[in-house]
Amino acid sequence: MNEIAERESGIEAFRKTLASPVIFVPTMGALHDGHAALISKARQISASVVVSVFINPLQFDSSSDLEKYPVSHEADRKIAELAGAKFIWIPSYDEVYPGEIQKISAGPLGKIFEGDSRDGHFDGVLTVVKRLFDSVRPDKAIFGEKDFQQLFLIKKMIKELNLKVEVISHPTVRDEDGLALSSRNTRLTSEGRMAAKVIYQALAKASTSTKPRLTLHQTLMSEPRLKIDYAEVIDERDFTIVEDGDENPHRRLIVAGWIDDVRLIDNMKIAGRSS
Ligand code: AMP
Repeated sequence: MNEIAERESGIEAFRKTLASPVIFVPTMGALHDGHAALISKARQISASVVVSVFINPLQFDSSSDLEKYPVSHEADRKIAELAGAKFIWIPSYDEVYPGEIQKISAGPLGKIFEGDSRDGHFDGVLTVVKRLFDSVRPDKAIFGEKDFQQLFLIKKMIKELNLKVEVISHPTVRDEDGLALSSRNTRLTSEGRMAAKVIYQALAKASTSTKPRLTLHQTLMSEPRLKIDYAEVIDERDFTIVEDGDENPHRRLIVAGWIDDVRLIDNMKIAGRSS
């Protein structure tokens, strides 16, 4: 097992020692098997894997959500190391934002769905990802499909700013009953955790339905503990809504809601039908 380097070494000094290609996995910590899968994928590509753990205040629109975000640095170090990280970087706020913050706007696509419910969220995400890229200078960065709108907007920013970072996406890692792994799941009560499986059930059922939007809504509404925020069928190339009956081959189901006041999101591609 490699000796994982720690924050004390400083990212700038450590970066110089890393052989190319450098693969970067940015996270907010409270690492679980979903993060570990991203890190393992990175390790398959290169021995130079950098994982960051930084809870970015800019992407939280509610201070209570920020305060409740779980912190587990010791466990994070172990999980990152076991999955194959070479360096775990746990920067302070001042390390990430040393001076005036150069905010990046996510534009109109950052204001719908997740961005509609969480004011300024994606501007905050893009701002921190750009800052982290500036410090780590990765060749490739890995992001999860679980946060599909985030993945989309990061790819778009990289293209628009002409950044030399290749994005690799990783499929959503799920629990046995299908619930997408999330650091927030630990805040669910046991009843809430049971109820949460309806999200995957609804996505799976809708993804093979001839009326995916209707099936999605009907299945989600069968669980009274779930407060739906949005549940839509979109064209994954531009996030426009696709009505039932339209056999667009680029459809993706997206869902967000609350159980026990815990915000849960998930998505699934609708596989194209072969005629
Ligand atoms: P977070 O720590 O929640 O900001 O997530 C860090 C990275 O891990 C992001 O690219 C997420 O999309 C990804 N991620 C989180 N949960 C999962 C999951 N269940 N499956 C795949 N990727 C995930």
